[in-house]
Amino acid sequence: MTHWIDNLITPLAKREEENLYRYRNTVDSPQGAVISIAGRDYINFSSNDYLGLANHPDVVSRFQTAIKDYGAGAGASHLVVGHQLPHHNLEKALAEFTGRDRALVFSSGYMANLGILSGLLSKGDAVIQDKLNHASLIDGARLSSANFLRFRHNDLEHLEVQLEKTTECPRKILAVDGVFSMDGDMSPLKDLSSICKKYDAALMVDDAHGFGWLGENGAGISEHFDLDQDDLPILMGTLGKAIGVAGAFVAGSNALIESLIQLSRSYIYTTALPPACAEAILQSLKVNKDEPQRRAHLKTLIDYFKEKTANLNFQFLPSSSAIQALVVGDNSRALALSERLMEEGMMISAIRPPTVPAESARLRITLSAAHTFSQLDQLIQVLEDCQP
Ligand SMILES: *Cc1c(COP(=O)(O)O)cnc(C)c1O
Repeated sequence: MTHWIDNLITPLAKREEENLYRYRNTVDSPQGAVISIAGRDYINFSSNDYLGLANHPDVVSRFQTAIKDYGAGAGASHLVVGHQLPHHNLEKALAEFTGRDRALVFSSGYMANLGILSGLLSKGDAVIQDKLNHASLIDGARLSSANFLRFRHNDLEHLEVQLEKTTECPRKILAVDGVFSMDGDMSPLKDLSSICKKYDAALMVDDAHGFGWLGENGAGISEHFDLDQDDLPILMGTLGKAIGVAGAFVAGSNALIESLIQLSRSYIYTTALPPACAEAILQSLKVNKDEPQRRAHLKTLIDYFKEKTANLNFQFLPSSSAIQALVVGDNSRALALSERLMEEGMMISAIRPPTVPAESARLRITLSAAHTFSQLDQLIQVLEDCQP
């Protein structure tokens, strides 16, 4: 009998047959409105670099000088000797920016979500999540061993039905994406905040896709909905998307942050983010503050794109964010459309199950302040030509 490890190829072949196989493109340029893959240029409508900061000259040059100041790596975890002055200053800046008492920097958003949920909850507690939440929130709930309940996407009635089942649980967290990563719509956070107060649950929002550009100052979803620390006690955001570098944070009360420092295993048992990254993030936050025209341009592009695509014979999901999802349904059709767009010089990846529900394969178009109107016009023209 062959050992299972020698037979790994069989399920892979099945994946390929179902058009579910994932291939990676190797990008041979920096991130930007145009990227190069295998020597060919593509207009990039797939990245989460919403403000075009990933290759901003000031951010890049601060990264370089910070390496001279602090070296390449942190060398240890935060609780040993890896917590350096740049991390400390970044935490202070993030707390101030989000209007929270404190912030804690994690090495990635995935790890932050695992660490928050598993650090705060244990057996007998409850976590309630929207069906369309990001995988990292789902994995965090599983890791916590708390009771895990899910409610239909943005369905407040169903949410209350689920909350009713948790009355015996001592600690409850309602966790949602602020902006849904594959759909682009938002959670009704004002309503969720009131419902949380009614059921004595803590609201947690993953602001991976809002932090940096949503709200007057770009402070993200909490600024957009005007939710303070009392309304939204657990605010998580990422630093590798609109902020253009890497890492993530959680912001909230002093007691929340201290609890996570003590209990969050994905914070404790990992090497701290390179300190130069923290300096580059600080620089990126400064550029974002000094150049509000980036956020304004992105918002204009979103409106322009929605207006120009409204009459196309394609199903776009309702979204006022930088994520515009064109739902195709069938996996092979989504792949074919993505390939056609590549032929035309546009990079828009097809998103398939299990990342999205079955029969809802889609092209996830992301807009960025780095795009020009002319680049958007090119996309709109190609979409017009590809309509079914
Ligand atoms: C990207 C993303 C994460 C993970 O963040 P990383 O820093 O990339 O690990 C978490 N939540 C959501 C909603 C995301 O889109």
